[in-house]
Amino acid sequence: MGNLIRGAVIAAAVEDEVRRRAALLAARGRIVRLVAVRANQDAASDLYLKRQQDAALRLGLDYRVKDVRPDRASLLSALRELEADVLTTGIIVQTPLPPDCDVDEIQRAIPAAKDVEGLHPANLGRLLDRDPPIVPCTAGAVMECLRATGLDVSGAEATVVGRSRIVGRPAALLLVEKNATVTLCHSRTKDLIAATRRADVVVMAVGRPGLLRPEHVKPGAIVLDVGINRVIKDGKTVTVGDADPAVAEIAGHFTPTPGGVGPVTVALLWRNAVALAETS
Ligand code: NAD
Repeated sequence: MGNLIRGAVIAAAVEDEVRRRAALLAARGRIVRLVAVRANQDAASDLYLKRQQDAALRLGLDYRVKDVRPDRASLLSALRELEADVLTTGIIVQTPLPPDCDVDEIQRAIPAAKDVEGLHPANLGRLLDRDPPIVPCTAGAVMECLRATGLDVSGAEATVVGRSRIVGRPAALLLVEKNATVTLCHSRTKDLIAATRRADVVVMAVGRPGLLRPEHVKPGAIVLDVGINRVIKDGKTVTVGDADPAVAEIAGHFTPTPGGVGPVTVALLWRNAVALAETS
């Protein structure tokens, strides 16, 4: 059995850093206020919102939920108001978006200086900088989980499966920055198994339970599983990742699901919120 990478331990360390930085800001009379805009509701989104709220309570930071009517015009108008509000230092728009919204348009409508998820094109562009002030939360969480192993990935082979703008692509860029040799795979990749088998680091960000099987992994590899899938097991609905649990027997280090990348993602949302407040 490989070494378990415990998300809660990493998240707690990030939260300590957030507390220290927020205290320095408070001493200068500056506040961190994160506003979550909810223009549509679903169970998964409400769970994520609750996690943001719980973290705010632990950190003693100002977190508000702004409910708006579920249409494009109301959402854009709320974002304009929040852009103009000097007390709001961070904004996150909860998904799913209202049906008449275009995700690219909404991401561009969140001002880059208040974009805690790091998904505005200006913030994504800064991923090409050596040391970007904020990174997309989930990709950043993957890197924190990797850092927790204490292993140097310089020169290592890393395979990222999934090329979304919020996870796979930024994770690939951040791995390149650590001098890994990166293969970015997706739904059209011809030989996915060859790419994962040769990798020293595998990042799974697809949303397919059990896609990565033990025979697809090099013994001793680091497996970082971003996938969140709800499946029925023994008559109960449970959360599983993209890696088959048996991968843990082959991997040198692995993130469990739940309890791996997820808790770190929320902590990084708050680290981004503090980083943006520092420069506001
Ligand atoms: P997405 O649907 O935007 O992207 C999925 C990617 O997987 C695509 O790039 C697609 O090309 C690729 N893909 C699909 N089928 C494939 C296959 N058979 N082989 C190889 N690649 C394939 O999803 P996303 O938003 O990037 O999220 C991915 C997963 O991560 C989901 O399960 C999501 O719930 C989870 N997620 C977790 C966190 C967290 O904090 N842990 C945060 C965000 C997303």
